Amino acid sequence: MPNDKIGVMGGTFDPIHNGHLFAADQASRALSLDRVIFVPSRIPPHKSYPLMASAADRYGMTELAIRNNPRFEISRIEMERTGPSYTAETLERFKAECAGALLFLITGIDAALDIPNWYEPQKILSLCKVAVVARPGYIRDKISELDDIVRDSLIILDTDMIDISATDIRNRVSSGGSVRYMTPDSVCDYIAKNNLYSGTGE
Ligand code: ATP
Ligand code: MG
Repeated sequence: MPNDKIGVMGGTFDPIHNGHLFAADQASRALSLDRVIFVPSRIPPHKSYPLMASAADRYGMTELAIRNNPRFEISRIEMERTGPSYTAETLERFKAECAGALLFLITGIDAALDIPNWYEPQKILSLCKVAVVARPGYIRDKISELDDIVRDSLIILDTDMIDISATDIRNRVSSGGSVRYMTPDSVCDYIAKNNLYSGTGE
């Protein structure tokens, strides 16, 4: 709908966890967003490590995690595109499909600081505002070191933080620990059932 305020929460979501969900909800409340679209990346341009779950598994877990929130949606847009999953291209498609909508790319401070290294950062900044949520371990003051052109597109939100990363979750699972309450039960069950991150799976 025209004038809709849409949050776009991109990520590898390997796996999705309560830090992502909390950040999306906080941004949604702070900016009065109509909805938040989670966009799992099929081929994250800047990431590679052993035991990355398949795109289908990461999408599946994201779908389970957002299911109970009517304001949260998921998009297959990056699943269906070949080549690296560039945020600039994703935002361009959303802009074309949702004519008149205002797009807010929701990121943690770590990701916001990295935007100058992303593919076509200028295009990203011309298509959306970047809503930056706090993240433990990342210093907000670093934002002042970014170029003006980047900084002017950022909306720094004064949100609380949950200290969870997907890396923590993968490490815990691979060493036999529990990740219950770090991510929704449905995601814990999916990880166990599909033997993800244990190093003994497919
Ligand atoms: P990994 O440890 O594999 O890098 P991650 O937990 O950082 O995973 P990503 O998929 O890399 O998750 O991040 C997607 C987006 O979510 C990024 O913008 C990132 O800053 C943000 N994010 C992730 N975890 C948190 C958190 N605990 N609080 C706020 N933002 C977060
Ligand atoms: Mg990350």
